[in-house]
Amino acid sequence: MMEPLSTAVTICPVCRQKIRSTAEHCPNCGAERHFGPRMIESAICAFAGMVLLSAVSTMLLPISLWTIVFAAAGLCAGFLFSHNRFGGDRWLGR
Ligand SMILES: [Zn+2]
Repeated sequence: MMEPLSTAVTICPVCRQKIRSTAEHCPNCGAERHFGPRMIESAICAFAGMVLLSAVSTMLLPISLWTIVFAAAGLCAGFLFSHNRFGGDRWLGR
């Protein structure tokens, strides 16, 4: 039996079994390699940003068109934050 090169093998972070480093999912436990934030994580961060900034804007200014502007800015900021926070490869277990 030929052992595969150590550089071509990685350890599944979910079940600690050796898997090919190019594998998109683990054959042992079914965990999947996932790039970037999941839909739900982006949505939560965007929503949190929107709520936060609209709350801040109503403290600084009366509710007006600015509240909508702040809310939209918060939405974008939250979305970008989620991409920062959850960017890169992750392994998600089943
Ligand atoms: Zn695994």
